[in-house]
Amino acid sequence: MSKQTHAFQAEVKQILHLVTHSLYSNKEIFLRELVSNASDACDKLRFEALDNGALYEDAPNLDVRVWFDTEAKTLTIRDNGIGMSAEEAASHLGTIAKSGTREFMAKLEGEQKKDANLIGQFGVGFYSGFIVADRITVETRRAGLDASQGVRWSSEGTGEYELENITRVPRGTDVILHLRDEEADEFLKTWKLKSVIGKYSDHISLPILMKKEVWDDEKKAQVTKDEWETVNKAAALWSRAKSDITDAEYTDFYKQISYDTEAPLTYTHNRVEGRSEYTQLLYVPAKAPMDMWNRDKRGGVKLYVKRVFIMDDAEALMPVYLRFVKGVIDSADLPLNVSRELLQESRDVKAIREGSTKRVLGMLESLADSESADDKAKYQKFWNEFGAVLKEGIGEDFANRERLAKLFRFASTHADEGVSLADYVSRMKEGQDAIYLIAADSLAAAKSSPQLEIFRKKGLEVLLLVDRVDEWMLSHLYEFEGHALQSVAKGGVDLGKLQDEEEKKAAEAVAEAFKPTLDRLKEALKDRAKDVRVTSRLVDSPACIVVEEGDMSSHLARLLKQAGQEAPKSQPILEVNAEHALVKRLAVEGAPVDDLANILFDQALLAEGGQLDDPAGYVARVNRLLVA
Ligand code: ADP
Repeated sequence: MSKQTHAFQAEVKQILHLVTHSLYSNKEIFLRELVSNASDACDKLRFEALDNGALYEDAPNLDVRVWFDTEAKTLTIRDNGIGMSAEEAASHLGTIAKSGTREFMAKLEGEQKKDANLIGQFGVGFYSGFIVADRITVETRRAGLDASQGVRWSSEGTGEYELENITRVPRGTDVILHLRDEEADEFLKTWKLKSVIGKYSDHISLPILMKKEVWDDEKKAQVTKDEWETVNKAAALWSRAKSDITDAEYTDFYKQISYDTEAPLTYTHNRVEGRSEYTQLLYVPAKAPMDMWNRDKRGGVKLYVKRVFIMDDAEALMPVYLRFVKGVIDSADLPLNVSRELLQESRDVKAIREGSTKRVLGMLESLADSESADDKAKYQKFWNEFGAVLKEGIGEDFANRERLAKLFRFASTHADEGVSLADYVSRMKEGQDAIYLIAADSLAAAKSSPQLEIFRKKGLEVLLLVDRVDEWMLSHLYEFEGHALQSVAKGGVDLGKLQDEEEKKAAEAVAEAFKPTLDRLKEALKDRAKDVRVTSRLVDSPACIVVEEGDMSSHLARLLKQAGQEAPKSQPILEVNAEHALVKRLAVEGAPVDDLANILFDQALLAEGGQLDDPAGYVARVNRLLVA
């Protein structure tokens, strides 16, 4: 075949134009694309050679070599993969066969024509070489064909390309970029090429070789030796079999990708096959980073496509509440040039996110439910670092709500940490329906809360919630395995079947006798309390503050205030212990009802961590009583 000139397919011309103009700001990606093509060509050879070993032509070691010629201003990327026949070169490099190309081009015809993001969504592959080159020559020979059947393809990336027959001994493909003058300075440097390869292609499992460069003392310059060295790591850890990877290797890899100095708490490594094919290697760090609370912080998962690095912090791959997870997801299905925008919409990505979420939860469950004390301690450590972040999941991830609730751990009146909802349920008393809890600013405040008194007396466990996110969590988590979560600081205490008939009768009698005093109390507090009532929830304290069932808890109202937000104004209810000496004094003839009532109210506020609107007024009242 003598030299022939062919016209590019119309779409190719358009793509070429768009690629060279839109992607210029990110021009180094051409190397990633060409190395990826070279790696694909080797994968294809390996695959075809499964049936036909002769294709290896006695040279089974596959690699990619990159070298340059400063005089000629050329950069060459060579692989010894499958290569192309003349027909293949014409069809693969002269037309675009990809499905969806037409729709893509039609989109580009519209207003978005100049949108670089859009072009980024399309695998630009081979043509990206024209970002930096004004001519590309491809010399190739298909594996298994005779040396006389080599092909030279050449084009300036405008309207046409030339094809000619050559003799070529080595199997595979050379892509020779004739760099534009202005690019030559930048890319004809070993360190520059090494750094681009390191950035995008470190984990391509194929070795990428470059000529060794050494310092020459006489010439006072770097000189290139005729000796090849591998410049990438050449082994994607995650693509190796689990059984071949040591714990130390997993840890080293974690440190390399996370910049963490500590070993991870735990990790999971799997190959997922099915509708969506991918490999995941995911780690849970041992310590929370400083910026854990920033929900805008991007995730720690890197996205690779077929071992080619695509992007860091691919937040679409993990829900926000798992933003502490670090690792790698390597997809076999996504296009190389996938953009963040496309990731958000892709069904493959959705499947990956769901699968990865399940994996992470599974990994946590296996620690949490483990019989081993070591694992349990690890889980508690995890919980101390990341529990509050995991709680966000209850509002974010409906599908995994139950699994999440099982992973939650709390403090309770029985234990200072590590109480799961399942533990709680297993300890519930005969006749107890609800899971009781109280939210407060600190463990100490929660523990000494007067609302707990009756629960203590009856030996009923109460969860003590002291995380800032707890109140928010409670607005999404209202039951566990059929048991309602019930705040002991809201509504009246209804201990239901837990109170026996006699107790109920006695309480009613006390309330009845107290009625006249109660009316005086209500009158004295009419501007401060929605209601005043007698309660049986108190044992040692004279009074406590509660809010009505549908109202915002006073703890949450305080949190909002601290955050500078307006909390809806609603008055609390004062509950009094009619058998307490201080309360009994109210009934005494001539008692200073107004002072006593306000002191009871203020003290109840203070006891639950609230602030007084008029602290000086409170002090004056107490002093009046002290001197009386
Ligand atoms: P993509 O790689 O996304 O299919 P490209 O434009 O990068 O698109 O490449 C087009 C086609 O050209 C490839 O699918 C492949 O068949 C062929 N090709 C490109 N580079 C090589 C190579 N180094 N060796 C063999 N074939 C190649």
